Amino acid sequence: MEEVRGDVSDVLPVDVAVMEEVRVFPLTCAVQNYAWGKIGLDSEVAKLVVGGDPLVVIEVDKPYAELWMGAHPKGDAQIKDNRIAQTTLGQWIAHYPACLGAKVKDAFQGQLPFLFKVLSVNTALSIQAHPNKELAATLNAKFPEHYPDNNHKPEMAIALTRFQGLCGFRPVEEILGFLQAVPEFHALVGRDAAEDLRSSIGDEVRTSQALKKCFSKMMSCEKKVFVDELNELVKRVTQEGAAGKDTSSSNGDLLLRLHSQYPGDIGCFSIYFLNYMVLEPGQAMFLGANEPHAYIYGDCIECMACSDNTVRAGLTRKYIDVNTLCEMLNYKPASASSKIFLCVQDPADPCVTLYDPPVPDFTVMKIQVPASVKEYTVASVDSASILLVIEGDATATSAAAFSDVTMRRGSVLFVSANESISLHVTSQSGMTLFRACSLL
Ligand SMILES: [Zn+2]
Repeated sequence: MEEVRGDVSDVLPVDVAVMEEVRVFPLTCAVQNYAWGKIGLDSEVAKLVVGGDPLVVIEVDKPYAELWMGAHPKGDAQIKDNRIAQTTLGQWIAHYPACLGAKVKDAFQGQLPFLFKVLSVNTALSIQAHPNKELAATLNAKFPEHYPDNNHKPEMAIALTRFQGLCGFRPVEEILGFLQAVPEFHALVGRDAAEDLRSSIGDEVRTSQALKKCFSKMMSCEKKVFVDELNELVKRVTQEGAAGKDTSSSNGDLLLRLHSQYPGDIGCFSIYFLNYMVLEPGQAMFLGANEPHAYIYGDCIECMACSDNTVRAGLTRKYIDVNTLCEMLNYKPASASSKIFLCVQDPADPCVTLYDPPVPDFTVMKIQVPASVKEYTVASVDSASILLVIEGDATATSAAAFSDVTMRRGSVLFVSANESISLHVTSQSGMTLFRACSLL
């Protein structure tokens, strides 16, 4: 996207004493135009970008996949105020690490511990899992070309629109149902492994072992074998659909959709192992270490620890490390509904919903200011935070900002630790914001 810097046109001479007092400022965030993104203004990412800056030109046939709100070197946010000497958020934090808050600064070696994102998914992203810290360090030491850092990568996705994905292993009864109904899937898993799974019901340890055996058998099939079975399956389901038959026992609609995006890909069979999730706006899923998952379609807020370690399992043209993948996964069958992450009301503020995962790296807050409230204070927290407006307009005032900041759909604000923001809401229907921080 076009880089826009310097909302404030007159450049003032700034001395260091003044600089240190500026601890709240607007950001222009990096857009990633990955091929799987929604196109043009169909994309929530594109809508937010043009909302935040009406001068940006959105190209009608270009994918707008991700908006990165953070200090990651591959998409460091630009500081939108040319009175500040540093150009990017990463540079600012390097100069003023105290902005992180004392605890966060110490716990995460002076780095912002999270990357906050908006995703607009048009075609499925690879099925994947992320290692825990220990495995990440081992993989990084052994295969730095595939595993670029030594950090874990827990992730949280919060739906902005109806959001479809895969998450975690299905209950065993469902997998057994597909083994029976889909002979092409059964052929890849094999009779032995399938029988082990059937006879393991009721014994958690044996079930987990049998599930690992089934999944590993499928993932290590020769390409020619699984491509033939997949073509056979797609042909059958297509014919059944054309004849007006119900193909839901083969998960027919999802199969054909994924196959059209990734023909001949082993990941198409994963839909028989993994829960198909449909999140309504505001619902979330948390992807802890070793949890297999994929995003299929929709727009979401995403927050993650800063890392690039991904082990892939299909729906990808990239490298699949079958051994590492099959060894690491969490083979604990559970229902789709149990995979929805429960958010809680902030006891201190009825406007705030907390999405607080069991990792220290990040927490996401949804702030909904009702239409009746015209003056709202975004409370201070002992962590740097990033604030994104999804809906509504306000003037933001802070003792730590150079000047008042106009906040509208798509505006992004960096807020240093222990700073509060006063919002004077000017829209008639209230406001919706998301905020990422680290509540240690
Ligand atoms: Zn992931």
